[in-house]
Amino acid sequence: MTLPSSEQLPQLGEFGLITRIADRVAVDGNVITGIGDDGAVTALTPGMQLVTSTDMLLEDIHFRRMWHDPYHLGRKSLAVSISDIAAMGAIPRWALLSLALPVGLSLDFVDRFMDGFLTLAGEHRVSLIGGDTCASKSGLVISVTIMGEQYPETIIRRTGAVAGDDIWVTGTLGDAALALQVVEKGGDTPLASRLLDPTPRVSAALVLAESGYATALIDVSDGILADFGHIAEQSHVGGQLFVEELPLSGSLRTEAAIMAVNPRQLALSGGEDYELCFTAHRVNREKIRENMKKCGVEVTRIGIVTPPTGIIALNSDGSRFSCLAAGFNHF
Ligand SMILES: [Mg+2]
Repeated sequence: MTLPSSEQLPQLGEFGLITRIADRVAVDGNVITGIGDDGAVTALTPGMQLVTSTDMLLEDIHFRRMWHDPYHLGRKSLAVSISDIAAMGAIPRWALLSLALPVGLSLDFVDRFMDGFLTLAGEHRVSLIGGDTCASKSGLVISVTIMGEQYPETIIRRTGAVAGDDIWVTGTLGDAALALQVVEKGGDTPLASRLLDPTPRVSAALVLAESGYATALIDVSDGILADFGHIAEQSHVGGQLFVEELPLSGSLRTEAAIMAVNPRQLALSGGEDYELCFTAHRVNREKIRENMKKCGVEVTRIGIVTPPTGIIALNSDGSRFSCLAAGFNHF
C-alpha cells in the first residue's frame, strides 16, 4: 500500500495507521480473530499452557533514534520479547504492539519500524494480533506483549537450579556492551549488530526444553552476573563463575584491547547479549554439547551452582575476580 509522499501521520490518523499495519500482517492458522475487533481470539495447542511476557522500550533510556535505525529498532523490539518466551522454554506465537509516537515522527519511520518488526515476526512465525497507538509528548514509547505456549512439563523456570549443577551459557558474552560503548561515542564496530539486532535463541531454548536437561533457564539481558543472580535468588542457591571460561568473541578481544577495557568485565556485567544462561546436572554435559551443536549454537560451561552463599567470580588460580559493576540496573 503506498500513500502520497506528502501524507504523514496526522493526516492518516490512528485508524488509518492501524489499517495500514493490519493490511501487512500475515496471520497464522491458530489466530481465529486478529487485528480489527475489540479483542483477538487465538487457539492454544491442546495440552499446552499460555506463557506471557511484556516489555517497554523508551526512547533515550533503552534506545536512541540516532543509533537505532527504525528497521532494526522494529526487529529488536520484538526480539527482546521473543527472547523472554524462549527463556521459558516456550514457543513464541502471538504479539501485541503498542506505540506512543512523538509529534512530528515521519510515517516513513513507522513504516520501516513495522518492516523490521514484521520481518522478525515472520522469521519466528509470530503473529501480530493487536495493539494500540497514541501520541507521545516526550519520546517514542514501544510496548510489546508476547504470548507463547508450551506443555506444562516442558516449561523451564528460574527456580530449578540445584547445588552441584553446571552453569552454561550460549554464544558469546560482552559483545553488545562493547558495541554500546562504541556507538555512544559515534563510532562503528563489527559488534554493532549484537546490540542493534540481537538474535533470540529460540531453537536452542526449545531443544533444551524438550531434552529436559536444563534445571533453570534465563535469557541474558542484564549481564550474566545479574541474570545468573536471578536464577540463584529464585532457586535459593549460589554460584561460582569461572571468569577465564566466559566465551568471548574474537571481535570483542580485538576491540577491547584497542579500547583498553577488560573484555571479561564486559562479559560479566554487560547487558543485552540475549544469550541463554542455564543450569543442568553434570551427567548431561556431553548430551548438552551434542544437542546445542545440532542447532548450531555454541555452548560453554562457565561455572557451578553452590549452596546459597552468594555469587563469586573466580580467576583460574582460584582468586576472586573483582567486578566493577553488577549489571544493568533500570533505576
Ligand atoms: Mg528475561
